[in-house]
Amino acid sequence: GPAVNKVEEDLSHVTGAPHVAVVSSGTAALHTMYASSGIRSSDEVIVPAITFAATANAAAYLGAKPVFADVEPHTLLINPASVESLISQKTRAIVGVDFAGQIADYEALRSIASNQSITILADAAHSLGATRTGSPVGQHVDAATFSFHPVKHVAAGEGGATASSNPDLIERCKTFRNHGINADHATRANKGTWFYEMCELGFNYRLSDIHAALGSSQLSGLEANVNRRNEIATTYDQAFNQNDAVTPLTTAQGSTNAYHIYVVLLELDALNVSRTEVFAALRAENIGVNVHYIPVPWHPYYQEQGYEPGNWPAAENAYDRMITLPIWPGMTDDDTSDVIVAVEKVVNAYRR
Ligand SMILES: *Cc1c(COP(=O)(O)O)cnc(C)c1O
Repeated sequence: GPAVNKVEEDLSHVTGAPHVAVVSSGTAALHTMYASSGIRSSDEVIVPAITFAATANAAAYLGAKPVFADVEPHTLLINPASVESLISQKTRAIVGVDFAGQIADYEALRSIASNQSITILADAAHSLGATRTGSPVGQHVDAATFSFHPVKHVAAGEGGATASSNPDLIERCKTFRNHGINADHATRANKGTWFYEMCELGFNYRLSDIHAALGSSQLSGLEANVNRRNEIATTYDQAFNQNDAVTPLTTAQGSTNAYHIYVVLLELDALNVSRTEVFAALRAENIGVNVHYIPVPWHPYYQEQGYEPGNWPAAENAYDRMITLPIWPGMTDDDTSDVIVAVEKVVNAYRR
């Protein structure tokens, strides 16, 4: 419907990529982007160990092998040196994840891959509204995906998108989301024909017009919301930088931050308990803390495939120490200080 075209146009402005295909979820967008980038069952796809599982799963849907790279210890973005050590003859794509809302160093990934036909892709579910060296993620990669799941900072009930400056790639995405059929119903209606053919195996990944309309209306608040998220993050940073037991993530140099989430790392040397106790105590203080994410290769599904713990020292160390604190544009200054007071109370109680 018409709202689909409208939200694709709206997204082309904020993502920095002129061509956009919306789909039914961020996971569908990853699957669609990988398939449309030519990833096949003999390929390897390098992804960071710290991300939501779908970044890797979508490669597995195609029979490709996810290869997990370690992350940078202070940003939790994919570590280019780790990526370099994992590149093989089979590497078909490197996928950065814009963890927490900052944009990964795709230029570094591209220079590592420069002599090979490796595609540079972004799972940008967290970074809508952020820029790196002045431009949004769509300008830095061959293609990027986004999610409009209810927890995301632009929510449309459900939804996702792939954005690219390559019009052919986005055409392939539009075929893939519609069963692999070569003409959608609007094109058939315009031509006055019933005829269509299914040229490849696709899926029903279309986004409804209702979700698309919600997406457009939500996007109109993006800039104000990201600004408010940054105000809250600055207040948190100022408080926690005084506290030797709590270290906020740093934002990668050159990147702004959409602060989809706000993550701190505990300094366990300063505490006499583990993250588990700190987490439970913060929940007892009525603070809606969370953890993003368990290293993906630690999940039982990947363990059964033979991925061994211990191969991602920075990711695994960060996982033991990470806590996600509440951040959303509707938080008041009082809410923000409630969180700070609770964190200080808990870490002081558990100080070694
Ligand atoms: C949310 C998220 C996804 C999946 O998006 P859905 O719309 O829930 O399918 C993928 N990757 C990252 C990094 C995410 O945060």
